[in-house]
Amino acid sequence: MTKWVYTFGGGEAEGSAGDRDLLGGKGANLAEMCNLGLPVPPGLTIITEACARYYDDGRVIPDELKAQVKAGIEKMQAITDRIFGDTQHPLLLSVRSGARASMPGMMDTVLNLGLNDHTVQALGHDAGDARFAWDSYRRFIQMYADVVMGLDHEVFEEILEDEKGRLGYENDTEISAVEWQHIISLYKRVIEEELGEAFPQDPEVQLWGAIGAVFASWMNPRAITYRHLHNIPAAWGTAVNVQAMVFGNLGNTSATGVAFTRNPSTGENELYGEFLVNAQGEDVVAGIRTPQNITEAARIASGSDKPSLEKLMPEAFEEFQRICARLEGHYRDMQDLEFTIERGTLWMLQTRSGKRTAKAALRIAVDMAEARTITTDQAVTRIDPASLDQLLHPTIDPRARRDIIGSGLPASPGAATGEIVFTSEEAVLAEKEGRKVILVRVETSPEDIHGMHAAEGILTCRGGMTSHAAVVARGMGIPCVSGAGNLRVDARNELLIAAGMTLKKGDIITIDGSSGQVLKGEIPMLQPELSGDFGKIMAWADASRRMTVRTNAETPADARAARSFGAEGIGLCRTEHMFFEGERINVMREMILAADEAGRRVSLAKLLPMQRSDFAELFSIMHGLPVTIRLLDPPLHEFLPKTDGEIADVSAVLGMNPAELRQRVDALHEFNPMLGHRGCRLAISYPEIAEMQARAIFEAAVEAARETGAPVVPEIMVPLVGLKSELDYVKACIDAVAKEVIGESGIEIEYLVGTMIELPRAALRAHVIAESADFFSFGTNDLTQTTFGISRDDAAQFLNTYIQKGIVEKDPFVSLDFDGVGELIQIAAERGRRTKNGLKLGICGEHGGDPASIRFCEETGLDYVSCSPFRVPIARLAAAQAAINGKG
Ligand code: PEP
Ligand code: MG
Repeated sequence: MTKWVYTFGGGEAEGSAGDRDLLGGKGANLAEMCNLGLPVPPGLTIITEACARYYDDGRVIPDELKAQVKAGIEKMQAITDRIFGDTQHPLLLSVRSGARASMPGMMDTVLNLGLNDHTVQALGHDAGDARFAWDSYRRFIQMYADVVMGLDHEVFEEILEDEKGRLGYENDTEISAVEWQHIISLYKRVIEEELGEAFPQDPEVQLWGAIGAVFASWMNPRAITYRHLHNIPAAWGTAVNVQAMVFGNLGNTSATGVAFTRNPSTGENELYGEFLVNAQGEDVVAGIRTPQNITEAARIASGSDKPSLEKLMPEAFEEFQRICARLEGHYRDMQDLEFTIERGTLWMLQTRSGKRTAKAALRIAVDMAEARTITTDQAVTRIDPASLDQLLHPTIDPRARRDIIGSGLPASPGAATGEIVFTSEEAVLAEKEGRKVILVRVETSPEDIHGMHAAEGILTCRGGMTSHAAVVARGMGIPCVSGAGNLRVDARNELLIAAGMTLKKGDIITIDGSSGQVLKGEIPMLQPELSGDFGKIMAWADASRRMTVRTNAETPADARAARSFGAEGIGLCRTEHMFFEGERINVMREMILAADEAGRRVSLAKLLPMQRSDFAELFSIMHGLPVTIRLLDPPLHEFLPKTDGEIADVSAVLGMNPAELRQRVDALHEFNPMLGHRGCRLAISYPEIAEMQARAIFEAAVEAARETGAPVVPEIMVPLVGLKSELDYVKACIDAVAKEVIGESGIEIEYLVGTMIELPRAALRAHVIAESADFFSFGTNDLTQTTFGISRDDAAQFLNTYIQKGIVEKDPFVSLDFDGVGELIQIAAERGRRTKNGLKLGICGEHGGDPASIRFCEETGLDYVSCSPFRVPIARLAAAQAAINGKG
């Protein structure tokens, strides 16, 4: 018999924190809190595997599972002294999702389950508060009809608004028990009218409806999107937690809240959270009412005049504070907690490792390592490498003039500038068109996840630090200002209204997610600070790292930025990028269009000093660190004009006849340029180009060595080699030039000649190619393209569909395909080193900056990874984590 259900409550649990895969994060931690003796309402967890079974079995729940849930509820009844469906002392339940990885707000929840026309009376009697009971019942009907029966909650909002209008009320709190009863009868009627079935009165039916809905919500579009964004496999499924209800809406001695054991924005070691008096859990996250601070210190800092929990309910606060310290110590990590206070009694509803900004993650990891709560290696593995991106974002220059038009909460740090848009659809569209936007909403909901991802920043007028917008933006590393109450969104007319000013769609604003300010126009930004906690974590990472980290750079600005981010050399200098600037493009065109070799040599002689000075500058910035320069790679027609207008302009500059130019351009046209006349094939057709580049490299090396005193060992890299004979041919040209320059300068030059491995044939014949190569660098952009036979320039058109339909899990151009491309890399590494022991191996495709791919490079024994400058810190950290995990 499968054990489908694990119970907890009354100071013991069948599961524990280690059962995360089985029970989901929420279930495992509820069990753990019970085991620690903390106050947790009793409940049960249906294991994650049941979710997969549910889909496999055509959405039927097995009898065995039903029987186990029934037994679990009997235990809950014994602990609470209440009975599910009883008309004297009814047990009410919450039904919540809980996957292995936290997916905040993405799946469904049903609260107050078990209420019907009879139990509601008993609840009111029991609580001595009829109004509370009817309010709970209407909340239940609304939630259940929406989540389980699929009736949009807006129909209920309309009824409620109409009734309030009729009664002349402003707030829900003014509605009496009797009035709620009337509203409930209207709710039930609209359900019958809209759905043709009655609201279920049988608690059993309600329970299985809710459990089925939670399973089904695993496959709702927003959960699917969230999983794609966070690489969570669909096969994991969600667990379902069924728990006895406790009520935060039982009058003014009741409350509900969420808290972090440390500040999730800054990482400061201070309890941080929000609560609402006389409310249910969902009210806090939904951002309907603006919540109060938990601690007095936070209340004073925020300037709020609403009392803190510390002042309002000192005993519950003290107990909560004790529990926070206990849980953080137990998990050795910052916790995110949910709690409810029912008539003065504190209940814990959730604990989990808290989501935090990158800045806070660094601070917490450093503080905990320095306090010896965790080791420095653990601190290094605590930081998500991709999240470092947030720290590398610019911030507003403090000297800049700030034209402040509003302010809210500093919900997710960093500054962003963009055009105002009011819908997620517009944000997605703008991103496609390459426009930067700020998504401006009253409040975001999980349906906005696409738009939030597409925007540069998010601004909301309502909601606290734990509102949906704030939590999701922090997770995504997107700047966010939430709850800017002094701004008003008029979505219908597409206006953002501030005091004394109205902005419209398309107007530019800047938001500062670190201060909460909203500013008019574009504001000068500052580059990030890379010392402090960042510096400490990076130093610990570097101490544990085996692979070196280089950068892909060709401009002095990129090379300098990469050095400041800790790059240990250049792994790829794409020389073609150097030919597009200013005057050079015309000299390049002149060379390409020349009638013969003699003509080409004239133009190449003009390009030589330009290349030489480029390389000399790179060598001097890198000050003796290795620099890999790749010979010209793209097809030559990429440098030529295409449209009639461009042809007219270029022919005028070059003094050519436009028709003749058009003819030459057409002659160079290729049907499949990526597989055409490019890479080493160019150097074989036109060796004079490779000779000029080699000469520029060697002369620059001589010059830089003289100037800086740091000897340079240039690494010359030949692209798109498939045959050893290709490499041999190009290497002979390079060697001949080296000889000449050595003769002319009288200086001995040390250099390496290696090849990119970008073609399956090169990987398979690596043992032969290695005879002529000093190093291999895996060009995984092309290697992915040529292994899959998918054009890297056209892939986006159908790869998204592939991902959506589950044909592939991830874009193989972003994260390495371990099974196919990865095997080729392993083969090449092994065969290459079989020929040349210790052959230097690196990677310079986009994957060199992707943490999962970097892990693969560590496991395969590569010597270095090379990535774009802004990803250098990410790669340093990811390489360290890979090495630490490799140690076991
Ligand atoms: C590669 O193919 O992975 C590579 C680094 O070269 P490029 O992207 O310039 O083709
Ligand atoms: Mg390539």
